[in-house]
Amino acid sequence: ESDIARDRGLAYYHPEQDSYSADRLTLASSLRDALRKDELALFFQPKQSLVDERIVGVEALIRWPGRKTPTPADQIIAVAEQTGLIKPLTRWVLEKAMVARSELVAAGYPQLSVSVNISPNNLREQEFPLFVQRLMSSHPQHTGKIILEVTETSMMLDPANSLRALRSLDYTGIPLSIDDFGSGYSSLSYIKRLPAREIKIDRSLITDLTLQAEDRVIVQTTINMCHDLGYKVVAEGVEDAETAELLAGMDCDMIQGFHLASPQPMEALLKWLSRQGDREQRRA
Ligand code: C2E
Ligand code: MG
Ligand code: MG
Ligand code: MG
Repeated sequence: ESDIARDRGLAYYHPEQDSYSADRLTLASSLRDALRKDELALFFQPKQSLVDERIVGVEALIRWPGRKTPTPADQIIAVAEQTGLIKPLTRWVLEKAMVARSELVAAGYPQLSVSVNISPNNLREQEFPLFVQRLMSSHPQHTGKIILEVTETSMMLDPANSLRALRSLDYTGIPLSIDDFGSGYSSLSYIKRLPAREIKIDRSLITDLTLQAEDRVIVQTTINMCHDLGYKVVAEGVEDAETAELLAGMDCDMIQGFHLASPQPMEALLKWLSRQGDREQRRA
């Protein structure tokens, strides 16, 4: 384990230190099964430009339908990371994201991007960038439209290798986004070297934006800094119109959140997009 990982309180998984190991093994084997039987699903949450109110893309989020007790995405991913399932799971998500983008193109939305969340351990796999590059070159119609989201904390596990992986992905034209910015141990000196195009400000800084003057200072400063460094800025977890208006006034580029739409299956998303299109037509 690297010094940085230890200093930051991050650690690798040691099954013998985990009192819930048995439960996790059951969950892990169910997950392996679900993956093999193609029983997992992706939901999609739209991302909107605050400049012209157009929808610019969607984020793919993992779901596990048909579970007796609903298993949140965070938990699915944690189990997958701890058991080595994250490698096939991320590959599955990437392939489904391409299918999703094809469906969006077919429905008349070729401008929309599809964002995919990438796990810490994916970045540490030697062959991950090459895998993504191969996948992209066999689907050239999606070039520049599949965005990879990585969290800052995920890079802190292994900064040198993560940065190498991100540079390699960026070099071949894959757009990168820094997720959950401001939620963990943000390193400003690290952020300046990232090849990303987009920064997503964590929901924890957005939730009380209308109530907390301090949060407004932090968010405004973050937006200004990110713009000066050449990043587009997305605010996560926007739940009401007041917050969206506030962010527009702060020159934030894009929003995501329940105010606009919740994550939903492709079929529902297509209906939502079509209603949204009708609204745009009426406004125009
Ligand atoms: P994230 O990438 O930061 O995704 C945003 C999370 O916030 C999603 O939770 C979304 O449903 C939720 N959210 C969106 N708008 C709002 C809002 O206005 N209010 C509130 N309270 N929540 C909102 P979800 O789907 O449960 O996913 C949680 C996390 O799990 C994600 O955070 C991401 O880190 C991870 N995740 C999800 N799908 C995948 C995946 O396919 N692969 C990997 N590696 N991680 C994934
Ligand atoms: Mg994300
Ligand atoms: Mg996030
Ligand atoms: Mg998150």
